[in-house]
Amino acid sequence: MRIQVVEDILSANERIAIENQRLLDEKGVFAVNLMSSPGAGKTSLILRTIEVVRGKLRVGVVEGDIASRLDADKIEAVGVPVVQINTGGTCHLDANMVRQALEELPLDDIELLLIENVGNLICPTGFALGERLKAMIASTPEGDDKPYKYPGMFAAVDALVINKIDLLPHLDFDVATFRQLVAGLNPEARVFEVSCITREGVEGWGEWLVEITAADGE
Ligand code: MG
Ligand code: ZN
Repeated sequence: MRIQVVEDILSANERIAIENQRLLDEKGVFAVNLMSSPGAGKTSLILRTIEVVRGKLRVGVVEGDIASRLDADKIEAVGVPVVQINTGGTCHLDANMVRQALEELPLDDIELLLIENVGNLICPTGFALGERLKAMIASTPEGDDKPYKYPGMFAAVDALVINKIDLLPHLDFDVATFRQLVAGLNPEARVFEVSCITREGVEGWGEWLVEITAADGE
């Protein structure tokens, strides 16, 4: 009985996610679901991505947080349309929350929609939002053993951004080992190494987004 209820909730989410994707397709919007643990640099990466793709793609942002609109304010400050979702304690975004956010965004003026999920490596992958791409940010201070601990997240994403590579000289983080673990779980994932502080590697990530967004619209 209990299992039945969970299945009903998930399938309801799935239905709304499909509706979201249909709306986004109709409007020519390519949506990316950005996931990570808290503090890995989702908002920083969004800000850097906006810098790189400016002039090539019109960007919109959905910010998911349990509380506050601090991150949305940072995005608004650079002149990009943004909607803040406060989940009020829920540890992930769901398709219904995103549907409400889409109603507030000027979708006709957006080509790339970056959706910042709630910081959490466990349940966000269980809730489709209507995105075309799932991306994860893993930051070097979290340690290179994270793929062992959260295999579901690493296996579920299309792209992985390793952030804070500027800190590598100070950390016991082995990039080669980390990439090997990721490849074992998810050989198809595109992997990028970046620093949102020095901006190293950010351009490669942004250019890739420009390419896949353009390819999706063809
Ligand atoms: Mg954030
Ligand atoms: Zn959750």
